[in-house]
Amino acid sequence: MIKVQGLVKRFGAATVLDGIDLEIQQGEIIVVIGPSGTGKSTLLRCLNFLERPDAGWLQVGDLSVDVTQARKADILALRRRTAFVFQNYALFANKTALENIAEGLIVVNRWTKARAHARAREILERIGLADKADAYPASLSGGQQQRVGIGRAMAAQAEVILFDEPTSSLDPEWVEEVLSLMKQLARERQTMLVVTHEMGFARDVADRVIFMDGGRIVEQGVPSHVFTQPQDARTRDFLRKVL
Ligand code: ADP
Ligand code: MG
Repeated sequence: MIKVQGLVKRFGAATVLDGIDLEIQQGEIIVVIGPSGTGKSTLLRCLNFLERPDAGWLQVGDLSVDVTQARKADILALRRRTAFVFQNYALFANKTALENIAEGLIVVNRWTKARAHARAREILERIGLADKADAYPASLSGGQQQRVGIGRAMAAQAEVILFDEPTSSLDPEWVEEVLSLMKQLARERQTMLVVTHEMGFARDVADRVIFMDGGRIVEQGVPSHVFTQPQDARTRDFLRKVL
C-alpha cells in the first residue's frame, strides 16, 4: 500500500538518507529504531514532504510520484494520505483542542466548519478528551496535548500515521496514556510508522521493527527476532545500550 524506493535526502554534503527501500502493508504497525542522527526523522519528514527528497519514488495508495518531479498537487495529495504526529505536539496555541483537530479538515480537506467540528467531537470522544473540547493547549497536560496531536492525525483519515518520537517530550507520568492511545489505534489496524525509543511498545505492538543506521535500513524483522537475534553488529550494539 505504501512503497518507498531509492529514497535519498542530502543536507549540503551530507547524505542523510542513502537509498531507502520500504514497503508497508495496510494495517501494518512498523517501529523504526536506531541511534540519533541516523535519519529516522528525515525519513518520516520526506514521506510527508516536510522535507523534499533528492531522489526516489513514493507510492501511497493509488498515488505514485517520482520525488524529483513532484508538483504541488502531488505534494498536497501525499500530505492528505500521510498524517504526522510531532514530538513537540505542534498544536496551535491560540486554538482550542476542538479547533486544533478540526483545522486540517477545514484547510486541507476543505470541509465546512460544521462538518469538521462534528468530526472533531467524535475524535475527542475516542481520545477520551470530550470534556476538553474548549480547552487551549496551555491548560492541558503534556499527555493530553499529545493525545490532541494524535487526534488531529486520526481526523485526517490518512492511509498512514507517521509518529516521530511521540512520547520523547513527555514527563514520564504522561507517557503511558499516549502509548495506550497508540495501542488502541494499533488494535484498530491503523497503519502506523513509529519512530520511538519505547522498546516495550515495539515488542508488544510492532508487526515489524526496522533498525536504521547511517541513513540506511540495516536490519528488519518481527520484534522477537530483531530483539533476540539481531544479525548485524550495529543492531546488537544499539540494543545493548537501550534494552
Ligand atoms: P534522527 O531522527 O535519526 O535522530 P535526523 O533525521 O533528525 O536523525 O537527522 C539526520 C541527520 O541529518 C543529522 O546529522 C542531522 O544533523 C541532519 N539534519 C537533519 N535535518 C537537517 C536540516 N534541516 N539541515 C541540515 N541538516 C539536517
Ligand atoms: Mg529524530
